[in-house]
Amino acid sequence: MRLRGDSRARGTELCGDQPKESLTLMSETRHWDYVIVGAGSAGCVIASRLSEDPNVRVLLIEAGGSDRSPVILAPAATDVYALGRPDWDWCYTAEPDPSRRGRADFWPRGKVLGGCSSINGTIYIRGNAHDFDAWAAEGASGWSYRDVLPYFRRAESNDLGASEFHGADGPLSVQRLRYVHPLTYQFVAAAVESGVPFNADLNGASQHGVGFNQATQRRGWRHNTARAYLDPVRRRGNLTILTRAHATRVVFAGSSAVAVEYDHQGVHRKAEAAREVVLAAGAIGSPHLLMLSGVGPARALEAHGIEVVSDNACVGGNLQEHAGVWLTYRMRVPTLNNETSMLKQVRHSLNWLLFGRGPATTAGAQAVAFLRGDGSQAQPDIQLHFVPVGYKFLPTEVVLYDEPTVSIIPNVCRPRSRGRVYLRSSNPYDAPRIDMPLLDHSEDLSLLIDGCRRVREIMSRPAMAGLVVKESAPGPQVMSESEWETYLRDTVVPCYHPAGTCRIGGGAGSVLDPELRVRGVMGLRVADASIMPRIPSGNTNAAAIMIGEKAADLIRGRRERSAWRN
Ligand SMILES: Cc1cc2nc3c(=O)[nH]c(=O)nc-3n(C[C@H](O)[C@H](O)[C@H](O)COP(=O)(O)OP(=O)(O)OC[C@H]3O[C@@H](n4cnc5c(N)ncnc54)[C@H](O)[C@@H]3O)c2cc1C
Repeated sequence: MRLRGDSRARGTELCGDQPKESLTLMSETRHWDYVIVGAGSAGCVIASRLSEDPNVRVLLIEAGGSDRSPVILAPAATDVYALGRPDWDWCYTAEPDPSRRGRADFWPRGKVLGGCSSINGTIYIRGNAHDFDAWAAEGASGWSYRDVLPYFRRAESNDLGASEFHGADGPLSVQRLRYVHPLTYQFVAAAVESGVPFNADLNGASQHGVGFNQATQRRGWRHNTARAYLDPVRRRGNLTILTRAHATRVVFAGSSAVAVEYDHQGVHRKAEAAREVVLAAGAIGSPHLLMLSGVGPARALEAHGIEVVSDNACVGGNLQEHAGVWLTYRMRVPTLNNETSMLKQVRHSLNWLLFGRGPATTAGAQAVAFLRGDGSQAQPDIQLHFVPVGYKFLPTEVVLYDEPTVSIIPNVCRPRSRGRVYLRSSNPYDAPRIDMPLLDHSEDLSLLIDGCRRVREIMSRPAMAGLVVKESAPGPQVMSESEWETYLRDTVVPCYHPAGTCRIGGGAGSVLDPELRVRGVMGLRVADASIMPRIPSGNTNAAAIMIGEKAADLIRGRRERSAWRN
């Protein structure tokens, strides 16, 4: 079954397809105050906030189409029906990774209103307070935890209620899971038995411990940033949302960004920005667009025949990703692998549609643990995801196990390996080259080995041990350090959290200043996961939304005050 998005124009959302062969080389120019590229996690927030001022005209340009489809809105459907489908996904493939025997990974990125918030696992984790303090310490002044907490709070409407750490009346619905598999409770109990403290709020006073996920959902339906931030304001006369509009270049007059060129409905157009251009095209899309526009490493740009506007070697560099591995266990009791027959799928779909309940509301991981690989109580360096379903990773495809299986995915919280996004050519429709050697740094490998051992320890505790038939992957034959290394180099995968390619910082070595302005040019900012100097410990959607909130205030010249005291 392949479902397609609704392509009707509604309100101020204008849709179009632009087969590039049939583009009319005519340039039609329109005028705005702000032109934002990318309606993803951050871009929808920025467009919504900036258009609160009725005196400014805002254009939001998105390459993908509508998010109005059960494929997007039913969290469990997205993995199966959206990932790897060009209707919803940019479907990037990274370059062969020399640190993992030349494996070339699939890198999904949302190409739809809401961006990756429309295709992600809906897990709501903000990252560790110390991560943001480290950003500030490295030159990103104004981005410490104390500075960013008000924006996390402003964004959310959390069903835990308002508190020092949470907001209860923001646009984004963050809720406890409506369906928790019985084995998820057993996993949490086993982790506690192994010495990991229970943490009722992984986004609260401390990140350390094991707890149940909260999700970006409303009553079991995905709450992406398009639903949260755009739907309530679509009727604003000063906000125009263009879908299926592919931005091809930022136009400069001297060193000032003055417009964005894009293809829409077979026409090559230009949108002039009287105030600013904001790139929110994501950790792959934003550096790609900067380089296509002449901002990046001069020699590389010249090699592709692109006129250099500003030479900045950092554009595309500092790419970071969470390296993870799927460990699977065959269970004695049913898991979600037992819920995939056609009849059960129909039942679960109806339960979701009518009541917002049941397995279709769950996108995967139901519990998360933050712990130390060495078992100490210091800053967590490993994250574990518990997923009550198991997949078999075959050389050419990933398939569901027929038998009841669960997965636990350890990943490194603060990876040291670094990669880069490069231009492949000057053609904006050619995907950029993504080089990410996930296990390049030996510390990432040893932390992952520690994490895998911690998983075994948890699964051997009474709450789980009696329910396990066997460890299916890797299996008990993998024991020694070198056996783990061999196994991990063959099986580690990205967690789909790329960040860092247009990093903020205090000076040379950064792409942006702490106010998100692109160094060396004027009138141009970047605001999305690419701006993170370091990837946070945790899934990156909440942080991208926070960045959108803070970016809007920086652009409007406002500032939130934090009530939080450390
Ligand atoms: C499969 C998957 C699962 C994930 N699971 C989770 C999870 O459970 N929890 C979590 O916290 N994080 C998760 N993430 C990561 C998280 O969703 C992302 O980090 C976050 O959404 C990134 O937000 P962003 O604003 O930086 O970019 P995006 O949300 O990717 O937005 C960029 C937007 O720009 C558009 N765009 C790009 N180039 C152009 C162009 N040239 N012209 C016009 N438009 C353009 C894109 O189509 C897209 O809509 C997951 C990601 C994926 C892919």
